[in-house]
Amino acid sequence: MVQHHPSDDTLVEYAAGNIKSHLALCVSVHLQHCPQCRTQVQKLSTLGGALLETLPCEAIDDAIFDRILERVDLVHPEPAVKEDANPLGAWLPDGLADLSWRKQWFKLYEYVLEVPKQGRWRLALQKISAGGIAPVHGHYGREVTVVLQGGFSDEMGVYDVGDFVIRDGNHNHRPRALENTDCICLAYMEAPVRLTGPVGRWLERFRDMFLSQEDLASQST
Ligand SMILES: [Zn+2]
Repeated sequence: MVQHHPSDDTLVEYAAGNIKSHLALCVSVHLQHCPQCRTQVQKLSTLGGALLETLPCEAIDDAIFDRILERVDLVHPEPAVKEDANPLGAWLPDGLADLSWRKQWFKLYEYVLEVPKQGRWRLALQKISAGGIAPVHGHYGREVTVVLQGGFSDEMGVYDVGDFVIRDGNHNHRPRALENTDCICLAYMEAPVRLTGPVGRWLERFRDMFLSQEDLASQST
């Protein structure tokens, strides 16, 4: 059963279409598993439509109206509140089977869905083999995780399929997969993770040698 949900603010921004696309994707995946948040988003969408209808009508010329419609299409995508929708279908037409996982740590694997041409975010699936433990790490930016299969625990809780988890620069944690099945999560990272254990800190020294001065400056802000 889903226990961890997006914040009310995040659901409001999602319903309004005023949210970064990859964060919206994570919310959409959560909504597949969470009737409670689906209902909430549906109510918020209805409320937004009702508020628009109360605005006074004024004549505007066709060119301006076309530009408004273009903007609405850009910033107000239809929220994916249908239970049978598959928000990850474009990346994973065959689901989670037969993916070419790349090993990152002893029992930690990654399957990258998308990397930016610019910026430092990354969208990926992460897998921890049953009973495996990821290295202890913190974050230079927000990390949004939605559990797709299995489950994991860390210092702050236990997370099951559909749970929506946000960690930021104030959190260090060490996820551990539950014992009975591999844990697979969708992860949207706004910035690289920061390894913080003894081995991790040693590895970080080498990583810093390969980061640009611009990256290092942005990490210190
Ligand atoms: Zn929810």
